[in-house]
Amino acid sequence: YKLRDEDPKGLHFFKPEPQLPAQRLQMEQELREALRLGQFQMQYQPQYSQQGEMTGLEALLRWHQPRRGVVPPRMFITVAEESGIIVPLGLWVIQAVCEQIALWKSDPQLCTLPVAVNISLQQLQQADFANQVEQIIKLCGIAPRQLLLEFSAAQLQNATHDNLQTLRQLASGGIRLSLDDFGAMPTSQNLLMQLPLFQLKISQSLVQRLGPNNASEAAMQAAIAMAKQLKIQIVASGVETLEQRALLMQNDCQQFLGYLFSVPVPASQLKSLLYSKPTHRSDPLLVG
Ligand code: C2E
Ligand code: MG
Ligand code: MG
Repeated sequence: YKLRDEDPKGLHFFKPEPQLPAQRLQMEQELREALRLGQFQMQYQPQYSQQGEMTGLEALLRWHQPRRGVVPPRMFITVAEESGIIVPLGLWVIQAVCEQIALWKSDPQLCTLPVAVNISLQQLQQADFANQVEQIIKLCGIAPRQLLLEFSAAQLQNATHDNLQTLRQLASGGIRLSLDDFGAMPTSQNLLMQLPLFQLKISQSLVQRLGPNNASEAAMQAAIAMAKQLKIQIVASGVETLEQRALLMQNDCQQFLGYLFSVPVPASQLKSLLYSKPTHRSDPLLVG
């Protein structure tokens, strides 16, 4: 198969995932193989406070495919989900992140940073998911509160009563819950109140459409107001410009993720980001 990711005209006619059944099957086989051969790696994108302090991380999966190079998740997550590979792959992700958190125990700054892991609905549908996660946390010897499980608002909309129950079980064990892609589509406050959410992430599509006095700003304000009312931490994701940051700050958004501050990096590079000067995080020209 060929990955149709780069579109020279910037037009997105094609979904980036392979389209033909034969291509999908080939990718499926390669993903199984990749898991066996250890071709996956996690990267970490730092989250920053208004004052420029690193306050958390989001773990993002990378596939190092020998012939194609680094394949980003948008190219393979759908295939992994539809084929069920996301179940063992997602468990590998949680294991890898928990092992990393355990390694950071000896670091005075990294030892307390909460780390968000993206999960798919297929994982929640496994009857023993909560127990498996709790087992991993125990074996790694880390504090449950350092792990955030993150799922999208669209997934929440499709979650069953049992799925929500699994999330509640995890939360009652101390794991924190984060809701991703918030504000891109309507999410009922009723549904939000059914879960003990720790964090809401404003959708990057919303952040990137922000401009003064437009509909996106109103949607962002509504999202922030709702999070405040429910006493949930609010994070803006996909922040790329100083203008976006300024508008978000004016509206009292406390936390930021985005290329303006840092791209996702391998764990080994986080140390140097921690000690880099804050000015590097406020000048978009210096972000590369
Ligand atoms: P997400 O959870 O919303 O993650 C944010 C995505 O936006 C990441 O892409 C990140 O690299 C990118 N990003 C961060 N800041 C900016 C910015 O300022 N501008 C722009 N344009 N993009 C930014 P990535 O790593 O390619 O991941 C894409 C999606 O794949 C994630 O979206 C998440 O839904 C999914 N994903 C990633 N890792 C995992 C995983 O371990 N398990 C599962 N189930 N899904 C994952
Ligand atoms: Mg996410
Ligand atoms: Mg996101």
